[in-house]
Parts: sequence; C-alpha cells; structure tokens
Amino acid sequence: RNIPVTFLVRESSFWNGVLPKGESEMINRHIKNHHIDLRLSTNLKEIISDEKGKVKSIIIEETGEEITCDFVGLTAGVSPNIDFLKNSDIETNRGVLVNRYLETNIKDVFAIGDCAEQREAIGNRRPIEAVWYTGRMMGETLAQTICGNKLEYKPGHWFNSAKFFDIEYQTYGWVFTKPKEGNQHFHWKHNDDTKCITIEFNSDTNQFLGINTFGIRMRHDVFDKWLTEKRTIDYVLEHLADANFEPEFYKTFEKDIQSAYKNQLQTA
Ligand SMILES: Cc1cc2nc3c(=O)[nH]c(=O)nc-3n(C[C@H](O)[C@H](O)[C@H](O)COP(=O)(O)OP(=O)(O)OC[C@H]3O[C@@H](n4cnc5c(N)ncnc54)[C@H](O)[C@@H]3O)c2cc1C
Repeated sequence: RNIPVTFLVRESSFWNGVLPKGESEMINRHIKNHHIDLRLSTNLKEIISDEKGKVKSIIIEETGEEITCDFVGLTAGVSPNIDFLKNSDIETNRGVLVNRYLETNIKDVFAIGDCAEQREAIGNRRPIEAVWYTGRMMGETLAQTICGNKLEYKPGHWFNSAKFFDIEYQTYGWVFTKPKEGNQHFHWKHNDDTKCITIEFNSDTNQFLGINTFGIRMRHDVFDKWLTEKRTIDYVLEHLADANFEPEFYKTFEKDIQSAYKNQLQTA
C-alpha cells in the first residue's frame, strides 16, 4: 500500500538482548527487505502533535531529526499494573510476590500471569514471565490447588515462539545471546537468509541445552523429550528429521545442517 514505515529500535540490533548475533542480524535484514526503514541504536525523544492534538511527527533523540507521521505505535515493554495494591498488605516488588504455589503473603490470595513475580526465579526463567502459556499453566496449577489438590507451579523446559514478517521463530530450552561459560553454539544459516538454527550445548559432555529455529518449524514435544532425556547435540542432529513439523512436500534441511555441523567441528 506504499505507506512508509520507520522502525526505531534502541538496541544496536533487533532483539539482541535475547537472540544470538547471527539471528538478530538476519532479522534486521528481513525487516529491511520488507521496506521498513529500520533505525538501530535510535531512541524516541518526543511525539509532536498538531493543534487538534493529533500526532504530526516524532523527534529522534540522537540526531534531533524530525520524522513526519500520522500514526505512532509504541512497544517499549510491559510492567505489572499493580498500583491499586500498593496500600494493601499484599507484598509486591515489580509484580505481586508469590511462592511456588502462587500464594501471596496473605492467606487465600493468589497471583498468576503477567502480574505474578516469583520470590525466587525458577531455573533460568525470569521472576516475572510475561508470556501467555505460562499464564495458562499457572491457571491450570492454581485450579488444582483451589479444588483441593495443592500443586506446585512447575513450568518444565522453557519454550516460546513468535513470527517476524515471514519468518517463524521457535525456541526450546536455553540458547543465550552468547554461550554460557562451558557451553558452545552451533549456528547454521541457509543461503536464502530466511532460515537458520542455533543450538547451545555443553562443550565437555556435548549435552544439548537448547535450540532457536527460524524459518523451519519443529516439534515442541520432541525437543521437550530430548531435553528431559539429556541427549547430546550429536543425537539431536542425527535425529533432527524426527523433530521436523513442516507440511508434506516442504523442502527439508537436515542434511545441510548435519554437514555444516561436521565441517564446523573439523575446522574448530
Ligand atoms: C503486543 C504483545 C505481544 C505479545 N506476544 C506474545 C507472544 O507472541 N507469545 C506469548 O506467549 N505472549 C505474548 N504476549 C504476552 C501475553 O499477551 C501475556 O503474557 C498474557 O496476555 C498475560 O495474561 P494475563 O491474564 O496474566 O494478563 P492480561 O492479559 O494483561 O489480563 C489482565 C486483565 O486484567 C485487567 N485489569 C487490570 N487491572 C485491573 C483492575 N484493577 N481491576 C480489574 N481488572 C483489571 C486488564 O484490563 C486485563 O484485561 C504479548 C503481549 C503483548 C502486549
């Protein structure tokens, strides 16, 4: 429809606080290929309105540049909306503080979903988990407790998914922006620049710790099982076809990925 869009991103690369460099840079290019004017390391300073109170432009912090526009979408993060509890006896921090049973400090008062903050984070998870499926799991857990079967909140292995224009993203287990101490990354990217995977694994034992997959759909239940079984990266790559979740007749990339893994190990 030929509507110019400018996308301001504070970070030096898209979502680079979560995604490893190769993936984040691929998404930068994909956004630009969709004719979005992506401005990295750029902050919004001001939104300017016309005499009727309607937006007419924005000002960029770093350069003072004014960009005319008639619509601004702001997605600068979420925080629990709990001000109404500040004068109550319920303990809060950024969110409503809960234990593993999702209980607050007050009997029969519970908190679940985006507003709940675990007093101690579970594994590598954040104390506040603002994703829909953890909200659902907390709801299922608490329903058991309320119905007389007191249950601890145990979300299992981390997973998540999203979509960046045409590129689907899934993550299972933990892949950090840079490998954690004692770990390594194996990264494969297709020449078409819309598909890649990154696997984090332990350098000593080769234990598979997590995968990010872009542009290739994979099966949650299979990775969940491999994480529980503490499989090695070698096992995972050997059986990667079992995790493929693409429709029939889609191209598959397991062989490319397996040979890239062998080459990277030989040249490492
Ligand atoms: C733009 C965006 C994209 C997202 N994408 C994803 C995604 O791809 N994958 C994913 O897993 N998650 C995603 N999320 C997160 C997901 O939407 C939330 O984790 C989920 O909606 C949380 O559910 P909830 O019931 O805890 O809170 P909410 O859905 O926020 O519901 C809270 C409700 O409480 C109401 N409320 C607040 N204060 C009061 C009050 N004082 N009295 C009465 N009612 C009140 C609110 O109006 C609201 O209806 C996204 C969120 C946003 C904003």
